[in-house]
Amino acid sequence: MKTIGLLGGMSWESTVHYYTFINEYVKEKLGGLHSAKVLMYSVDFAPIAKMQEEDNWQAAGEILADAAEGLEKAGADCIVICANTMHKVTEQIEARISVPVLHIADAAADALLRDGIRRTGLLGTKYTLTQDFIIKKLQERGLEVILPDGEDIDTVNDIIYGELCLGVINDASREKYCRIIKKMKDAGAEGVILGCTEIGMLVEQKDACLPVYDTTLLHARMAAAFALEEEK
Ligand code: GLU
Repeated sequence: MKTIGLLGGMSWESTVHYYTFINEYVKEKLGGLHSAKVLMYSVDFAPIAKMQEEDNWQAAGEILADAAEGLEKAGADCIVICANTMHKVTEQIEARISVPVLHIADAAADALLRDGIRRTGLLGTKYTLTQDFIIKKLQERGLEVILPDGEDIDTVNDIIYGELCLGVINDASREKYCRIIKKMKDAGAEGVILGCTEIGMLVEQKDACLPVYDTTLLHARMAAAFALEEEK
């Protein structure tokens, strides 16, 4: 089995689910007492969130690249950035390591395309929804991406940083998310990507009017499949 290197802590509230999902997958596939070989570097998220706000991605990328280098030295066979937003610095990380970074947008695209979905809604932080590091990757995979409108992007973003990253789960926020998902459905979306690793804590399939694609679950499964050297 290969060793998975997790870049976690962004936020830790979601990273803990990666650990669970990865081990559940390995248990399901191998049975018995098998569990995943995992190394994790969990950062202090506060300074990173501040660097995002200040548009200082270079500095945030350095922290993650240092951490990824350490994971590789410790024996990681791949790197998993446990957040959509920090995929903005994927290339900066890749430049410092020789093992692959398993991209979260590929995990989502694989699942959508497998289900025959071409037009997808996307939820995520304001960075993910207004910049192209995730959207472009999805488009390159042949997906049409439908986004919330400007005001709704702020709502989704504020709930991520003000509630979900702090472990706060609110019924009123879930309703807001579901209303926004409904709008994307009305605009033609056939599914919705939960493109922020905390959203799965708030919105489950039973809440939503579209098939949901939870990047935390899909990315964790992608990592576990990589570790087990499964064919795609
Ligand atoms: N976990 C989040 C994501 O998937 C947001 C936190 C961050 O800014 O990294 O985008």
